[in-house]
Amino acid sequence: MARTKLVRLADRLRAFPAPAGTRIMEVCGTHTVAIRRFGIQKLLPETVKLVSGPGCPVCVSPDSFIDEAAALARQGVIVTSFGDMLRVPGSRTSLDRERAAGADVRTVYSPLDALAIAESTGRETVFLAVGFETTAPAIAAAARKAGEKKAANFSLLTALRLVPPALQALISENTGLAGFLLPGHVSAIIGLQAYRFLASRGLPGVIAGFDAEGIIASLLLLLEMIARGDRRVVNNYPSVVRDEGNERSRQVMDSVFAPADAEWRGLGMIPQSGLELRPAFAALDARRRFPSERETTPARRGCRCGEVLRGLIDPPACPLFKKSCRPDSPIGPCMVSAEGSCSAWVLYE
Ligand code: SF4
Repeated sequence: MARTKLVRLADRLRAFPAPAGTRIMEVCGTHTVAIRRFGIQKLLPETVKLVSGPGCPVCVSPDSFIDEAAALARQGVIVTSFGDMLRVPGSRTSLDRERAAGADVRTVYSPLDALAIAESTGRETVFLAVGFETTAPAIAAAARKAGEKKAANFSLLTALRLVPPALQALISENTGLAGFLLPGHVSAIIGLQAYRFLASRGLPGVIAGFDAEGIIASLLLLLEMIARGDRRVVNNYPSVVRDEGNERSRQVMDSVFAPADAEWRGLGMIPQSGLELRPAFAALDARRRFPSERETTPARRGCRCGEVLRGLIDPPACPLFKKSCRPDSPIGPCMVSAEGSCSAWVLYE
């Protein structure tokens, strides 16, 4: 029987003569889950270590963001969010707990759903704007729509993050990485030019899709590039990613948001790595509309999510992993999110 292309690719990956101690990072949480689900980490040569990166938006949102959202919920505001955020613990509470205590916290599938809630209820409605370059254009479009409709009771609590500045911060930390498996969906927006800095640091990257064949082929290509000293960024997901990205989406995003310094869980404050509303959209800024003291929140004791997000440890190195921290009773965000490394290890290992 003829061997399939997938099996041949897997065999080539397994047999690739990579030098000992080759560390590569999959940046994107969707890749983390796909790699674990398909068991692709088991196909890598023993000399290659694949580590997860900071590409799970829920995981990198700091405790202080959950605390802000919970404080809004306690004020009687309708808080709307993508589902994963509800279970993430802040320093003292979570949105799930606030909802159980009577707060109006609702799961939505798009920011336009949140705008519709604001219009239908007439009540103050806040959408938790979380995500990377993938979700930011849709949130920007909703902000523009709210402006056109003069929706005075709709606002955004922003924690949007940009992937390239986080990668720059990671490599300046000298994490010993040899190359990156780059996110498909984010790259569809930002294009290849956004990763120019990688070449100047001598690091190759491969933009990958999300099926098993696409990931295995991209890992093999990345190892081949590392071996021959090829420091380019290659688009191995051309069915979705155009080299120039999506200029129209970037324009919509840029018309509403401007880059700003932002805090990442585990990576700290990174210059120009977040998105904040431009002055023309200040009326939609929940922090202006509902000013409150921003508390300094201590790090969660025992949780090593920050190190997991920087690829410094694997989840089982956390002493709480599968003990007090499990998918049904998460302590850190890496166990909450469907794209979190800790939950992916538990579900698919
Ligand atoms: S296992 Fe739980 S406590 Fe440990 S790093 Fe992961 S999310 Fe944090």
